[in-house]
Amino acid sequence: MSDFYATLEVERSASDDDIKQSYRRLAMQYHPDKNAGSKESEEKFKELSEAYDVLRDPQKRAAYDRYGEEGLRGGGGGGGFHHVDMSEALNIFMRDFGLGDLFGGGQRQQSGPRSGADLKIDLRLSLAEVAAGVTKDIKIKLLDPCDRCGGVGAEPGTKPARCQTCGGQGEVRRSQRSFFGQFVSVAPCPTCGGEGVMITSPCKSCRGEGRQRGEHAIPITVPAGVSTGQYMHLRGVGNAGARGGPRGDLVVLFDVDDDERFERDGEDLYTEVLLTFPQAVRGADVEVAGIAGPIMLHIPSGTQSGQVFQLRGRGLPRVNASGTGDLHVRVQVWTPTDLTADEKRVIDELAKVHSPVPEGRNKGFWAKMKEALGA
Ligand SMILES: [Zn+2]
Ligand SMILES: [Zn+2]
Repeated sequence: MSDFYATLEVERSASDDDIKQSYRRLAMQYHPDKNAGSKESEEKFKELSEAYDVLRDPQKRAAYDRYGEEGLRGGGGGGGFHHVDMSEALNIFMRDFGLGDLFGGGQRQQSGPRSGADLKIDLRLSLAEVAAGVTKDIKIKLLDPCDRCGGVGAEPGTKPARCQTCGGQGEVRRSQRSFFGQFVSVAPCPTCGGEGVMITSPCKSCRGEGRQRGEHAIPITVPAGVSTGQYMHLRGVGNAGARGGPRGDLVVLFDVDDDERFERDGEDLYTEVLLTFPQAVRGADVEVAGIAGPIMLHIPSGTQSGQVFQLRGRGLPRVNASGTGDLHVRVQVWTPTDLTADEKRVIDELAKVHSPVPEGRNKGFWAKMKEALGA
């Protein structure tokens, strides 16, 4: 038989608060979200929640202290106690934290003012900004604490009164009898909405809400290398909570504009450059578009149309990591359409002396085509 006190690492004389603190600490440590797939952690998490669910309840605790697990089963053999499964364990855990999104929005308290709503904004970026990283001042409209009442919601000179219904606890406990025995449910206080206090004379400026509209320029530092759909979570810079609640978060969602010069694949960039026939035949230095400005690329003599040059480190930085992608430059030979008389004459001369395409070259083309299509 397990010892619930030992499981929760507390003394038998521990106060309710000690038990709660210890449970929260251990449950956070063994929470399945933090221990991807570990069976051991899962078992431990269930044991903790089971033990806590008993010891947090004065009646169950007293019964357990006197009779152990037997005391929890009740006389009838139906049993008010059973080993909890994972979903029950998670419910116990969530209930203890007041259903807050614990791992997303920070610890939320069961009573007291709630934090403000999270705010989401889209941030448009050019590819050049993505390449270098950028800090932008973004103007956002949000809710600030009220100037007049300092966010309390009460008219200056007055004080909020303790809620009569819950005695300032912010939650109400109901004892219910059921077929399985007595159990206690906890819910936010309906009178004060879980805040524990009531505003008797509301602030004239915010009407007791404790908030007012505001606008801020918030500097947002975007790390280099981000892509569309990635986001940043800035804690505590969102909307102020009602009546003194902490600020929520700001979620910045990135939206990277297309750059017609490049195709992007992660940190690699692809671009194309057109060559004249003499450049491809005899070689040349040509300018190609780079993300940080033009790059000179040496084209060796005898370069085929469609050939790809890989410029290492000329792509985009890896986001929050070291290293930079490559720039892939595909060359195409440009066939002129409007020839001058001189050009026509020289081309015709060339045609007379030009060697034919070597046997078997076109097979190579189809092979390359298949490769490019991934066939
Ligand atoms: Zn106010
Ligand atoms: Zn209340």
